[in-house]
Amino acid sequence: MNKAISIIGSGFSSLSASCYLAKAGYNVSVFEKNDTVGGRARQLIKDGFTFDIGPSWYWMPDIFEKFFNDFNKSTSDYYELDKLSPAYKIFFSDEVITIGDHMDQICEEFERIESGSSKPLRKFIAQAQDHYDIAINKVVLKPGVSPFELVTKDTVTRVDRFFKTISSEVRKNFKNPKLISTLEFPVLFLGAKPSQTPSFYSFMNFADFGLGTWHPKGGMYEIIKAMKSLAESLGVKIYTNSNVEKIHVENGRTKGIIVNGNFIASDMVLSGADYHHSETLLDKKYRQYSEAYWDKRTFAPSSLLFYVGFNKKLKNIEHHNLFFDTDFENHAEDIYDDPKWPENPLFYVNFPSVTDEGMAPKNCETGFFLIPIAPGLEDTPELRQQYFDIIINRFESLTHQHVKDSILFKESFCVNDFISEYNSYKGNAYGMANTLRQTAFLRPKLKSKKVDGLYFTGQLTVPGPGVPPSLISGKLVAELIHKNEV
Ligand SMILES: Cc1cc2nc3c(=O)[nH]c(=O)nc-3n(C[C@H](O)[C@H](O)[C@H](O)COP(=O)(O)OP(=O)(O)OC[C@H]3O[C@@H](n4cnc5c(N)ncnc54)[C@H](O)[C@@H]3O)c2cc1C
Repeated sequence: MNKAISIIGSGFSSLSASCYLAKAGYNVSVFEKNDTVGGRARQLIKDGFTFDIGPSWYWMPDIFEKFFNDFNKSTSDYYELDKLSPAYKIFFSDEVITIGDHMDQICEEFERIESGSSKPLRKFIAQAQDHYDIAINKVVLKPGVSPFELVTKDTVTRVDRFFKTISSEVRKNFKNPKLISTLEFPVLFLGAKPSQTPSFYSFMNFADFGLGTWHPKGGMYEIIKAMKSLAESLGVKIYTNSNVEKIHVENGRTKGIIVNGNFIASDMVLSGADYHHSETLLDKKYRQYSEAYWDKRTFAPSSLLFYVGFNKKLKNIEHHNLFFDTDFENHAEDIYDDPKWPENPLFYVNFPSVTDEGMAPKNCETGFFLIPIAPGLEDTPELRQQYFDIIINRFESLTHQHVKDSILFKESFCVNDFISEYNSYKGNAYGMANTLRQTAFLRPKLKSKKVDGLYFTGQLTVPGPGVPPSLISGKLVAELIHKNEV
């Protein structure tokens, strides 16, 4: 009989792993505590407005394509992809920078801001492409078991790029602070400050300027729907409203899980829930990492999010909009160095209905507002409202329009919701940051060192935060399980 594996959670990493494991012949069941699948990438539909609750930037289309290709499918079998043009807009206090959908346009925009900057830009992006080829096609596909995985001909000859930071590399080539912010933005997806992120991670800049920003028609949840449909077609059983309360261990090996009070026997257990939470489902002696260990890690930010329905079309906006009209260094200090609510936060807004009319009722706009904040901050209705007022006022002034009177409704999501909805450690939004000391083999491991048959996947383990890394994490853990358990 095929071996049975129980998977905790139904985020991108769990769904990815479930597909690979089912294809390899395992009897796979997914247990999700919430009433819909998708984890941090769930969907909110209200009064005809469609919101992606979490991720909205579709970067690295090659990784999504490769995932579906592994099952002889293509993204186009499930959803329609549009390349956004322009990709996004950045609002500074006195200027707006528009990032086009190919290098020539982006170079023109750089020249407009800093004469002569297109030459170093092309050089920087060529190097970023070199990093992308190595990182995405070689390094990232390793399971983080040993430091030697990082030692390859390609990485050894570029070792300096692991010790220089993105911040120093960008500042060496560009002087204009707006261009510096523009080039530092992509590594924020890795969850740490650019001054703490190795320059090798400039592959994110190639993802941005080289590969472009895409939108699946209907929103990011279309990817989750596609993966659920693929998983079910491969025989995976998916159970929602199924809270996993305990991982059962006998003689050092997993025997199953307790779901809503019922014991489900299984040969292996894989958790795609946040790693810290997953270990709390074990008796203490079986946990690998202490509370002190987690407390010392650099976590990616949490977020204060607003999902807003507007009763009119808005002006001067694009699908993706960054508001960098305040000092990033001060905001970053409030996230990483001295965690507190930021005085003048940067924020991000997306309006998917600008390019995808199905995402809002006719002549309306669907707005998603995000302020990155430190995990673990106090979260009250008063603070949420205070910060909504701050950003909506700035939004009105920078986009030159009144919108407050056009709000039909607004829902919010913050630290307390990340904890209650996803069992997230300190309410982090994007998992554990990818810094030099928290990369590859230095991240929490895919396989438990203390319990046989117990595995982990997702944004707190390898390769790290983000949707594409979560897809890869699911693949890596499935390969590891197959290698160890056959
Ligand atoms: C606001 C926000 C914006 C983001 N923006 C982007 C973006 O633009 N682009 C990008 O690439 N990435 C983005 N990300 C990151 C990306 O969404 C995540 O990296 C990815 O979705 C994480 O997937 P995962 O499988 O690791 O975890 P999750 O999605 O968190 O899945 C874990 C699942 O486990 C479930 N669970 C927890 N405990 C239990 C239990 N005891 N029993 C059963 N189930 C349980 C949870 O409910 C959840 O469904 C964003 C994230 C957030 C929050």
